[in-house]
Amino acid sequence: MRQDADMKKAKAVINRIKKAGYQAYIVGGAVRDYLLEKPIHDIDIATSAKPEMIQQLFSKVIPIGINHGTVLVRYQHQSFEITTFRTEKGYSDFRHPDEVYFVESIEEDLSRRDFTINAMALAESGEIIDPFDGQADLKLKRIRCVGQAKQRYSEDPLRILRALRFVSQLNFNLDQQSYDTIKTYNHWIKKIAIERITVELVKLFQGQASRRAVNYAIQLGVFQQLPVFEQNEKLVQPLLDYSQTVDYLVEIWTYLILKVEDAPLLSNWCKAYRLSNKEKLVGQTLLEAWRCYQEESLSKWLLYQLPPDLDDVFIRLISQLTSTRVTTKQLIAIRESLPIVSRKQLDINGDRLIKLYPNRTRGPWIKLYLTEIEYEVVQKNLNNDYKEIKEWILSCHPPERS
Ligand code: ATP
Ligand code: MG
Repeated sequence: MRQDADMKKAKAVINRIKKAGYQAYIVGGAVRDYLLEKPIHDIDIATSAKPEMIQQLFSKVIPIGINHGTVLVRYQHQSFEITTFRTEKGYSDFRHPDEVYFVESIEEDLSRRDFTINAMALAESGEIIDPFDGQADLKLKRIRCVGQAKQRYSEDPLRILRALRFVSQLNFNLDQQSYDTIKTYNHWIKKIAIERITVELVKLFQGQASRRAVNYAIQLGVFQQLPVFEQNEKLVQPLLDYSQTVDYLVEIWTYLILKVEDAPLLSNWCKAYRLSNKEKLVGQTLLEAWRCYQEESLSKWLLYQLPPDLDDVFIRLISQLTSTRVTTKQLIAIRESLPIVSRKQLDINGDRLIKLYPNRTRGPWIKLYLTEIEYEVVQKNLNNDYKEIKEWILSCHPPERS
């Protein structure tokens, strides 16, 4: 199993640090997921050694956040984030702690962490260091802050969204203190940089219990504090009906655009949440596919334009917005029946088309006509044969006489 192999390598890294006379532990999400017997994505290590010492101990070290005590170590083709034991003071920009202090003990390091289930350390020996009863909370399936909830959420209000995304990923509940604090102070979220919010929202919607998390977020007035929703409260409730795990955040925004009357445009959502151009394109493709679907159901033209990696997303959208069930098999069958898979395969191109209209100057008409031809060929209304295409286009658009 990959997981065991990664843990073994992490222990070898720890062993090397310990041999040099320092303490080192696996910390954070890796310990939590190990105890839950879930797949571990990345292994973070906390150590009493300073970054400079780690740089001496390993040959491949990337100083990714050296001011905060973090370096990335490559060891046997695996990456480990190694951070010196530290605590934090003040979050005046709500992004980075004002000052980072290195501390001596793992317990102090654990006390800066957000939730009890994320504040455990695993020693090389297998011993679990758990000063805040994270293991008990794992059993109770509960998200509880390390220390006083009000203080912890006010230091870094992103923790509000982190709490909800762990609810979603782990199918846990919020403890009463978190619940009450978030309900009262949900407006603190506004202080957080949108990029950080987007990262947590993606994880929230991708989690297995996203519905539970969305339910909490609505009850606690969290969505109502987020961009776009803030000005359009009617966008909030339909989120509850989206009962499936998503691939992209834009999938949710697309759903809302199609579901809610007068919803903001895709470009507004993408801008507000700083989505990448790639993700925006996914949104555009889905909206266009939906438009096609409305007009002519599962046509060849639709499948010609829909990239196969969006099949699942599109199927989910249809199932959320209609009572129809479409299967991947259906989509694949239609795609296999397509006469061409790209415009390049058309038996005509721009140059040949221009020659059919010698009295015309170049212009947008070329692209327009090519698209018309492409549509007819894809839909099998017209054979992909130059002679037939020529006849058809000249009959649709007779050339002007000179
Ligand atoms: P994932 O599996 O998604 O990576 P994770 O628990 O490892 O989950 P990260 O965001 O990678 O989450 O953070 C690593 C650890 O750093 C957390 O487990 C937690 O101990 C600590 N941490 C991260 N963000 C915060 C925060 N905003 N406030 C306090 N502690 C944090
Ligand atoms: Mg992590």
